[in-house]
Amino acid sequence: MRHTKVKDLLNSTTTLPEINAKGWVRTFRNNQFIALNDGSTINNIQCVVDFENTPDETLKRITTGAAISVTGSLVESKGAGQKYEIQVNKLEILGDSDAEKFPMQPKKHSLEFLRENAHLRVRTNAFGAIMRVRSVLSFAVHSYFQQKGFVYVNTPIITGSDAEGAGEMFKVTALPFDNTPRTEDGKVNYKEDFFGKETNLTVSGQLEGETFAMALGQIYTFGPTFRAENSNTSRHLAEFWMIEPEVAFNDLNDNMDLAEDFIKYVVKYAVDHCGDDLKFLEGRLTEEEKSKPQAERSEMPLLEKLGFVMDNNFKRVSYTEAIDILRDSTPNKKKKFQYIINEWGADLQSEHERYLVEKHFKCPVILFDYPANIKAFYMRLNEDGKTVRAMDILFPGIGEIVGGSQREERFDVLVEKMKALGIEEEDLWWYLDTRRFGSAVHSGFGLGFERLVLFVTGMTNIRDVIPFPRTPMNAEF
Ligand code: ATP
Ligand code: MN
Repeated sequence: MRHTKVKDLLNSTTTLPEINAKGWVRTFRNNQFIALNDGSTINNIQCVVDFENTPDETLKRITTGAAISVTGSLVESKGAGQKYEIQVNKLEILGDSDAEKFPMQPKKHSLEFLRENAHLRVRTNAFGAIMRVRSVLSFAVHSYFQQKGFVYVNTPIITGSDAEGAGEMFKVTALPFDNTPRTEDGKVNYKEDFFGKETNLTVSGQLEGETFAMALGQIYTFGPTFRAENSNTSRHLAEFWMIEPEVAFNDLNDNMDLAEDFIKYVVKYAVDHCGDDLKFLEGRLTEEEKSKPQAERSEMPLLEKLGFVMDNNFKRVSYTEAIDILRDSTPNKKKKFQYIINEWGADLQSEHERYLVEKHFKCPVILFDYPANIKAFYMRLNEDGKTVRAMDILFPGIGEIVGGSQREERFDVLVEKMKALGIEEEDLWWYLDTRRFGSAVHSGFGLGFERLVLFVTGMTNIRDVIPFPRTPMNAEF
């Protein structure tokens, strides 16, 4: 007999005479009640064992973590908390789990301990829920763009362009470390490397994405990106997934509209499709917040916070206005910020971003028109000659979730800018072709998928929303 998923059994509309379920034991109480989970839902199904007619050896093997198969009938539950349960007729142990050794005991584990056991943490309620929400969110990403006619583009993971400009890169090489081939002046001779040139893991698919937008109109990427930055924060990974739409003929306002509409759609999609998981994660967050000082607790429970983002307009504020707000703010005057804001042109640190979002506006904020010299070379210069059409979206508890811009479409201005920054024209000859042939206004943004998952799940460390996190000094599994 084919086994039925626990989710389907729990959602059954009738009792069923004969069913089979397979899964892992969460708990076993009174030699009689198994809480069985198979990952299809956060909810366990209760399996009632006829312990008088089950051999002791079998009962002893029903331990937390064991894989079992139960055959029996789906009956109305006499106990509280569930509508149906399984009256077990036949129980088979598929895989034992030594109760003394299984690390995922039915008790509260620290998130640090669970990270060290990332291969097993997914068997806990919280991580099962997070990973299901992550999966649903990634489907929602595709669903949003596909409905709107965007073309999904797989930009290269090994990039031959070292001017992506978004961060430090990991080298990709097949050269030996001993007797590395060198040029006459002692530099590594990449001509002898696998690709005959220097290559890296991509930090962003944007530049390649732009070339596709200038043919297909509306495109998006959704793939892994890599940054060798030594930033050991709760918001940075060395390997993360990024979503990068790029749209021909969109200006910065269209770009902000797209980003806001997109985020609202995927958040709503998760709320509509992950009810049980989000309810569980909301409880987890509320519990976690109790251990924080009052001032650091979030003002809304998780689902209310998600509803707030779905139902309210993001506040759009220019960089210049933001600087004025920050300069006059209490933490700035009282020198509570680590970086004091004195003048226009300052780069905003996460403390400033969080002040704007969490204390001042109390809602998601889109900052736009940043000073040119703190932003990337490809951003469209404004008529004032000193700001660019950049926008960052800042979220409560997260900080920057989106970074985007209208792109500089004017060949001469772009080349000028590259020159000033020492970026060689010949390195980006193909990129410049988009401006040589049929250039047009276009815009796009990058959204860090894990930061989105952080927000939706209410988790606080980015290492807890990706299956196997890669961070400085950590690449286990
Ligand atoms: P930050 O200032 O937070 O370091 P950034 O400005 O370097 O980010 P961008 O280059 O604009 O980031 O990348 C676009 C988006 O990718 C960011 O808005 C963020 O959501 C995400 N992102 C960037 N770096 C990381 C990282 N190391 N780990 C996870 N997500 C990241
Ligand atoms: Mn950015």
